[in-house]
Amino acid sequence: MAFPYSASNLPTQVFINNQYVEAKSPQKFSVFNPKDGTLVSDKVPLAGQEDVDVAVGAAEAAFPNWKKVPATERRDLLHKFASLIDQHAEQLAVLTRLTLGAPYDSFGKFEGAMAAEAFRYYAGYVDKFGGESHPQENGFLKITRHEPLGVTAGVVPWNGPLGTVGLKAAPALATGNCFILKPSEKTPFAALALGWLIKEAGFPPGVFQVLSGDGSTGAIIARHMRIRKISFTGSIPTGKKIQQMAAESNLKRVTLELGGKSPAVVFDDCNLENAVTWCVNAIAANTGQVCFAASRVYVQEGIRDQFVAKYKAALEERAKTIGDPDDRSTIMGPLVDNSQFKRVMGFIERGAAQGTLLTGGNRVGDKGCFVAPTVFTDVDLNAEISQNEIFGPVSIVNTFKTEEEVLKKANATEYGLMAGVFTQDINRALRIASEFDSGMVGVNCVSLNMLNVPFGGSKQSGLGRECGRNALEHFTEPKTVMINLTY
Ligand code: NAD
Repeated sequence: MAFPYSASNLPTQVFINNQYVEAKSPQKFSVFNPKDGTLVSDKVPLAGQEDVDVAVGAAEAAFPNWKKVPATERRDLLHKFASLIDQHAEQLAVLTRLTLGAPYDSFGKFEGAMAAEAFRYYAGYVDKFGGESHPQENGFLKITRHEPLGVTAGVVPWNGPLGTVGLKAAPALATGNCFILKPSEKTPFAALALGWLIKEAGFPPGVFQVLSGDGSTGAIIARHMRIRKISFTGSIPTGKKIQQMAAESNLKRVTLELGGKSPAVVFDDCNLENAVTWCVNAIAANTGQVCFAASRVYVQEGIRDQFVAKYKAALEERAKTIGDPDDRSTIMGPLVDNSQFKRVMGFIERGAAQGTLLTGGNRVGDKGCFVAPTVFTDVDLNAEISQNEIFGPVSIVNTFKTEEEVLKKANATEYGLMAGVFTQDINRALRIASEFDSGMVGVNCVSLNMLNVPFGGSKQSGLGRECGRNALEHFTEPKTVMINLTY
């Protein structure tokens, strides 16, 4: 059967127990196209308590068999699912683009490939995530096993609706958990369409389910007494609520991937072209709506003028590629919606009093949520635009003299997701890398992630790590088995 969904046939049912069904909750929500504000649908189901309960029941019923499915079979299912994502990448990207506004060549393609790769990566881990055997003492053999948690859930944001699914569902399923996905209310369609792929791949009913909804659905999941783990990606305020609800309900396990205000530190001995390229892509990709975007650039005084001139020119070039995300020549699309547009423009307007506007600062066009890449220079360390995640194409550029000074500045926020250092001096790069207070560091690069190494933040940027072996550990619990060898 051909993939059934498209812009003219949107998935508007929840996916429970391998069936598309009408949600029991009568509530619906609306989504709009950020390129022109037109209504995309007012019929997206807002899953309620009963819907979550039914999905949890189906997952509980599926879990005892699913966790015992032979490794080769589980591996093959994950591989098949990955191939289906690849096969339908363009169609899934259309469903995302309708409400996110991200062009295919600069975002949709990358995101789909990342999701498919995540399923492949964890497929390879299914029979390799072994436990431990400890030295024998006192006649006891001790082994530890990684046990799946049972019913797990992922609550994800809108800026990478498919990519975040790969980072959460793949390790959850690889380790034998059942998984319920709750996409963002701003980007529900690609996630809902995954139901078709889940069935086509051959996952047993109840193993992988999708419930559309808003924060109220997310809260029902976070408070649910029979969901054992929630893997959350989103804002810090919501992350804190999730952790609180998890603690107040059944102490479910929590992983939090939250916001960022990532610094890029550019020393005067760097390869300037390389530094400019990474810093520009870091703040312009996905219209700046990226958690690890390098939104604070610190440039050493000696190259300040050259860097600023090139950074400004490159961002102004990028601004020329702003346009209709459905047009294949567009690189930069709009912000996700009107509320994000107002939020970003608010930061820009207030930023005028906090620094010097270098470029941008304006809306592009007279309809839709398009904003020009915007840079402020000479911004005070405590200013709002230095300290808060804006989540749009807005950055600040400041200068520094010494390593000590820039480290203090780079570390002076409550965020700690990523940091980058640009220099040709390897000793300095490693010194700085070890002093950054962040979960991830780029040397001569910034704002990137790789599937096989831990992804996540320090301080308020998060709790726990995704990717690599870490994700498997967060979706399992060690079980210690002590064997009395003398009996
Ligand atoms: P958000 O916190 O508003 O929403 C994220 C998800 O949580 C959505 O699915 C939403 O419906 C749900 N939600 C909202 N309120 C809830 C509640 N009270 N209880 C349970 N669930 C609730 O975030 P957003 O605006 O969708 O995403 C932007 C944020 O996500 C930014 O701060 C960005 O930095 C962060 N982000 C982080 C990473 C990372 O890996 N660190 C990746 C992408 C985005």
